[in-house]
Amino acid sequence: MKSEELFTTAKTCLPGGVSSPVRAIKPYPFYVKSASGAVLKTEDGESLVDCCMGYGPLLLGHANPVIQKAIEAQLDAGWLYGTPTKFEIDLAQRIIRDHDSIEMLRCVSTGLEATLAAIRLARGFTGKCGIVKLEGGFHGAHDAVLIAAGSGATTHGTPDSLGVPPSFAAQTRQVPYNDTEALEELLSKDKEIAAFILEPVMGNVGPILPDDGYLAAVREITAAHDVLLIFDEVITGYRLGIGGAQKKYGIKPDLTTLGKITGGGLPIGVFGGRRDIMELISPSGGVYNAGTFNGNPLSMAAGIATNVYLHENEGLYAKLDEKTRAIEESLPAKASGSFVRLGSLFKYFFRSTAPGNYLEAKQSDTAAFRVFFEKALKSGVFIPPSQFETNFISTAHDASSMEKIISVYQHV
Ligand SMILES: *Cc1c(COP(=O)(O)O)cnc(C)c1O
Repeated sequence: MKSEELFTTAKTCLPGGVSSPVRAIKPYPFYVKSASGAVLKTEDGESLVDCCMGYGPLLLGHANPVIQKAIEAQLDAGWLYGTPTKFEIDLAQRIIRDHDSIEMLRCVSTGLEATLAAIRLARGFTGKCGIVKLEGGFHGAHDAVLIAAGSGATTHGTPDSLGVPPSFAAQTRQVPYNDTEALEELLSKDKEIAAFILEPVMGNVGPILPDDGYLAAVREITAAHDVLLIFDEVITGYRLGIGGAQKKYGIKPDLTTLGKITGGGLPIGVFGGRRDIMELISPSGGVYNAGTFNGNPLSMAAGIATNVYLHENEGLYAKLDEKTRAIEESLPAKASGSFVRLGSLFKYFFRSTAPGNYLEAKQSDTAAFRVFFEKALKSGVFIPPSQFETNFISTAHDASSMEKIISVYQHV
């Protein structure tokens, strides 16, 4: 069956025909049959250079042979025990070594679970219920963080989804990214805030970079108000380098969430941080967290193999940076949009200057993006189908796939 036909069938059994909303490309999504390196092969017989890379986890490319071998070795030994394994200790020790701020951690199955648990833990530890997030900040699809944008710090949050009780949403406040005054004002007024959760580099409205000194100021302000600082590094962890954004910018959050690359492309979430806080997690403390697939051996095997590879090949980060630089340098002089990149993250915003926060990003010309997206797809390059989803490059993007990407951006 070809993609169009598959989608027709999918709509009869899957809401909207898909398993996650961003995948519902109009008029119908292409269906992938297999993937290798930087290339997706579709059910329609096409080959596409992938700039989405599973929305981030695949830093080392599709079906990376090193990771594949590690997964296969674990498959032979079984893939779920419901007991402790040495693998969870191994991965935990590696993550702890890579992050100065993490003294203890727990592995769950998704980034969503990691941020949900970190928020519950912050509430349990501080005895306060309110949380602050960024306007437009994404931390997975759960009630505390599905908050409508634009509600601002002065009002309580309102749900961004049916089914989120307004009373839950009211516990969540929002501030714009790169705005330390708004944060200071909010925390001075509201003494019931347990934590501020943010992506240190916003990655879910396209990449938005921190102004000089922003993250250091955030650290200072939260500490001064006894508010825990949670860095959601589900994208930036192992993406901006070993140690993520906190290493790059020299900031020590109280809690960190990881996911995506950390599991080498298999489902994972991690939350960790200060020992005195983490010891409150069950069974050592009273904040409950549990999961059938927590620390599952397959994800641990893929995560460990990825970690070993990254440490043995740390130079790959500089090479990834060169690749996105080459895309930037290929833009035509008359390009009216703005190109934002950081290492292997990049996006072309159809907006004259790089956005500094969510509302600015929202001013991008999404119709122009849509035209560009379709043109890229016709040329054999798949970029995430939204102006507000970050593009990802992997180590598997070789000269020929980079050439294809560059030829698309040359005509942006
Ligand atoms: C992807 C993402 C999540 C959610 O992770 P899932 O594994 O999709 O549940 C959370 N936070 C950030 C910053 C993300 O990019």
